[in-house]
Formats: sequence, C-alpha cells, structure tokens
Amino acid sequence: MAAETLFAPASGFGRAAICVLRLTGPSCAEVIARLAGSVPEPRRLSLRRLRDPADGSLLDQALVVHMPGPSTFTGEDMAELHLHGGLAVRAVVLRVLAGLPDCRMAEPGDFARRAVLNGRLGPTEAEGIADLVDAETEAQRRQALRQLDGALARQVAAWREEAIACLAGAEAALDFADEDDVDDAGLDAALFARAGALADAIRAALADGRRGERLREGFHAVLVGAPNAGKSTLLNALSRRDAAIVSSRPGTTRDAIEVRCDLGGLPVILVDTAGLRETADEIEAQGIARTRRHIERADLVLVLVPAGEEADLTDLPPSALRVRTKCDLGGSAQEGWLGVSALTGEGLPALLAAIEARAQADLGAGEALLTRERHRLALTRCRDHLDAVAAGVGAPPELVCEDLRLAARALGEVGGQVGVEDVLDRLFSGFCIGK
Ligand code: GDP
Repeated sequence: MAAETLFAPASGFGRAAICVLRLTGPSCAEVIARLAGSVPEPRRLSLRRLRDPADGSLLDQALVVHMPGPSTFTGEDMAELHLHGGLAVRAVVLRVLAGLPDCRMAEPGDFARRAVLNGRLGPTEAEGIADLVDAETEAQRRQALRQLDGALARQVAAWREEAIACLAGAEAALDFADEDDVDDAGLDAALFARAGALADAIRAALADGRRGERLREGFHAVLVGAPNAGKSTLLNALSRRDAAIVSSRPGTTRDAIEVRCDLGGLPVILVDTAGLRETADEIEAQGIARTRRHIERADLVLVLVPAGEEADLTDLPPSALRVRTKCDLGGSAQEGWLGVSALTGEGLPALLAAIEARAQADLGAGEALLTRERHRLALTRCRDHLDAVAAGVGAPPELVCEDLRLAARALGEVGGQVGVEDVLDRLFSGFCIGK
C-alpha cells in the first residue's frame, strides 16, 4: 500500500451546491479525526463541523464518510468530505489537507491507478471509467459502460485461456519428445486447428472498421466549399439548433472550427475548414492543403455550393453529401442535392437527418469490443503469432510454443495480467483529477 494519502475534488471545479472531496490512503481516518474531531462509524454519512487543526477555526459544515479498505474503489482506506460547493470553501479545505503530514493532492487518474495496482480494477475497466466520464452522447455512454462492465476483459480472458490451453498441449508434446529423444514431437493436428480458430475469432473482432475508437472520437463531417459558399454561416445556423449541439469550440489544430453535436445518440463533429476563407494566396494555399487533410480524415464530406452556381466536384469522394446553400436566393431544386438556407432555416432538419443517417450507418452497426489503439495493436500481434502457429504445421515445436506464449502474452497485456505498469502512464494521462 502506498504511504501517501491522496485527496482531490471529485465533483468538478465550478461552483455547485455540493463539492465532494475524495481521499484514499492509510491516513484517511486520521485526517477525518483531525478535521471533524472524531471518525464516524464506517460507511455512514455523518454531519460534522470541520475545523482547521492549526487554530480550531471553523471551515465548513459537511457530510463525512469513512470507508475502510480493502473493499473500496482503490482497495485502500477511503474517505469523502461532502462540502458546500463554493469556491472559497473548497479552496480552504484543500489548503488545510495539503498541510497535513503525508497528504498530497492527487494527479489525474491517481485513484484509478491505485485501484488497478491493488487489483480492484483491470486496465480495460479503468478505460471504461475514463470513457464514461467523457461520454457526451448515449452511444458513447453505452459503449463505455459495456467496457466498464467487463465485456472486453471477459472476451480477452477467454481468448487468453484458449491460447494457454494450446500452449499447455504443445509443451506437453515437447516434454514427451525430450524424454523419447525424437526430433518430431508430433504436435497434434487439432492443436493447429485450435490456434487457427482462435486467430479467426480475433481477426473477426479486429475487422470492425475501428467503430469503437471512432465512437469515442466522434464522427467527423467536414464542410467543404469555395470561399463564400456559406460554410461558416451554415455551421452557425446548425449550432444554434439547441437540441443537436453539445458544444462549440475552436478546432484543436486552430485551422478549423468544430461543433460537436449529438445526433440520435451519436457524437458528430461538424468541421468548418477555416483556411479556405483567407484570401492571401499563400494562406489560401495552406488552407487548401489543410482542407485536403481534413477531407482525408473525414468520415463524411459535405460539399457546399451556392444555389445557381457551377459545382466542381473533382477531388471529392463519391460518398460526399451534396448541399446547395443559400436556396432562399432562388435556384430550383436539383436531383441528388439537399437545398438549405442558413438565412431562413429551410432544409436544416433534413440536412441534420441526412448526416445522422450516415453516422448511424457507419458507427451504429453493432457493438464494438475494441475501443482503443492499444487493444488493436496487442490483438494484431496476437493474431500474427497464432497465424504463424496455424501456418507452421510441422514447424519445430519450440517455435510453436514460443508463438503461443507470445500470443498469450499479448492478450495478457490487454487484460492487465502482463506488464500492467507499462500501460498505466499512458492510460491515465487522459483521466480527470479525482478519478
Ligand atoms: P464561407 O466562406 O463558405 O464560410 O461563407 P460564409 O458563411 O462566410 O458566407 C458567405 C456570404 O454568403 C456571407 O455574406 C453570408 O451572409 C452569405 N450567406 C451565407 N449563407 C447564406 C444563406 O443561406 N442565404 C443568403 N442569402 N446568404 C447567405
């Protein structure tokens, strides 16, 4: 068990009715005793006056709970202080906690890290928690909860068991061969078939179009069109439709404006490639290059052409959604095009419905098991080793055993049975404080 006791606000950073401070580590009881005068009965919320141990001054009236380990989230002693959620209350209590011996503010993911290291949680479940906290839409929530609930962990554990069973069979044959001093261990054909079947099962899971990762990242719909085609006006008009919009924020690359929407439970990110609006030649050239990159990365391209203007569709994917903008200015409806007006709002619901249908066809096609590159890389390695086994009928048994061992090891990396320390830093870098 770690010697330090960690604390962190677990309920966010803004002003709120209640602020939950969470503690984990060996001195939880001592911290409560110092602040609240005594330690309440385990797992019972008790109303206490909290005082500064330095001078006895009153800090807050708060609900306090002590949860002795090991049956806690982290496996350690834990405590919670349910403070009033004002900024000054939280600040003074955090300052007092930081002054106590062996206590420090937690880094992002520290609570989950301890939970994993103490065997309370596997890495895939911890990833599920991170995704659940980040989930903005219903499909993201369901996927995160599935992973938190162990769907991936159970499947990977079952595959790993099968790989280990194959390995045990191969090793037994190898031992037998040693004893009898024969070259050919005569590995059972059934063993190669089993390894091949396992490789096929993993291959099928990998052939998911990266749906799990893309559901976490969001479905990127990129608006493309000449300067003045009406891209930014359309995006603004769409982002004012309260029902759809999750948040509007500047693009991470500063060359695009992104609006995050919830369309039928799916996260859709509308991207306006701002580069094309610049007029100076050089800037325009950069803008076009950036737009190309956005198109390459896009899940859907929306090509915008003002009503009545010539459409140039070269370089655009055939799957692009064609949109006639400014249709309030006239121009007759056209086969294969959606007419919209950002000015009057005409056609906007149909446009959102069309984008949602594309997102649904792409991301809504069943539940994905893999949700991170980490899972995909390990499973790809595993599949390659199993393919090598299945293809190597008659290969030296030592090599077969080594491939099976590496296949099992790759599965263990996903589930956390192997090298868990290696994955923790990367895993927790994206976590919130207090989680
Ligand atoms: P962008 O360069 O593609 O982002 O184009 P803008 O959104 O800046 O629009 C260019 C011009 O077209 C602006 O003067 C807009 O006011 C005008 N505009 C955009 N959408 C509409 C529309 O639906 N109807 C009309 N009449 N004008 C529009």
